[in-house]
Amino acid sequence: MDRIGVNLLSVLDQIRQACSRSGRPAEAVKLLAVSKTFPLECVLQAHAAGQLLFGENRVQELVEKAPLAPPDCEWHLIGHLQRNKVRAALRCAACIQSVDSLALLHRINNIAAELQCRPAILLEVNISGEASKFGLPPEEVEEVVLAARDGQARCQGLMTVAPLAATPAELGKIFAGLRQLRDKVSAQTGCPLPELSMGMSGDFPIAIAEGATIVRIGSAIFGAR
Ligand SMILES: *Cc1c(COP(=O)(O)O)cnc(C)c1O
Repeated sequence: MDRIGVNLLSVLDQIRQACSRSGRPAEAVKLLAVSKTFPLECVLQAHAAGQLLFGENRVQELVEKAPLAPPDCEWHLIGHLQRNKVRAALRCAACIQSVDSLALLHRINNIAAELQCRPAILLEVNISGEASKFGLPPEEVEEVVLAARDGQARCQGLMTVAPLAATPAELGKIFAGLRQLRDKVSAQTGCPLPELSMGMSGDFPIAIAEGATIVRIGSAIFGAR
C-alpha cells in the first residue's frame, strides 16, 4: 500500500482509539480527508484505500478536483465561501461546512432552490473569538439556526477551527464550548444539530473526547503542505 493509504489507516486507527477512550462507538466519528493543495492523484490513492469523504477549502480547487474524482466520493467545502461562488460550490459539494453569515445562508438557499438540490450545511462558529477568523460569533448562532429551519439547505450542526497555537487545555475548552453551544441552541430552537465538525491533524483526539462527529484531517494523511 502507498504512503497515503498507510497514513489513512493509521489515522482511522487513532480515531477508533480516541472513540474507545471516550466510550463512544467508532461509527460516531466520520473522517473528512482534507485534500487541499494536493493533486487528484492523492485523492485517488486515498479512495483506493477506502476513503469516500473529502474536503477542500477553496471553491476553485473543489471544482477542479471533484468532477474528476470517482463518483462515490462526497465533497465538503470547509473554507470561507464568497457569495459569487455559491453556485459553483453547490454543483460539487454535498455539504458547505463554512456558513458564516445570514446573507450567505440566504444565498445558498436561493441557489439551491434554482439547482433543485438540498445541500447539507454546518454553521461555522468563531468560538475562540480570534479577530482574524471567519465564523459566526456564538451569540448569533441561534438566529441563523432559526433562519435555516425551513430553508432549502439542511442545517445539520456546527463547525469550528481552533487556533493553531492553543494548548491542549485551551483546545479542550474550545471544543467543549462548541458542543455546549450546540446543546443550548438545539434546546432553544428544537433543531437537532447532530453534527460537530471539529479537530484537525494536530488536535483531533481532543476534539473526539469533546464530542466531534466529523474530524477534518489533511496533513496527517497527505503529508506536509
Ligand atoms: C486545512 C484545513 C484542515 C486540515 O488541516 P490539517 O492540519 O492539515 O489536518 C481542517 N479544517 C480546515 C478548515 C482547513 O482549512
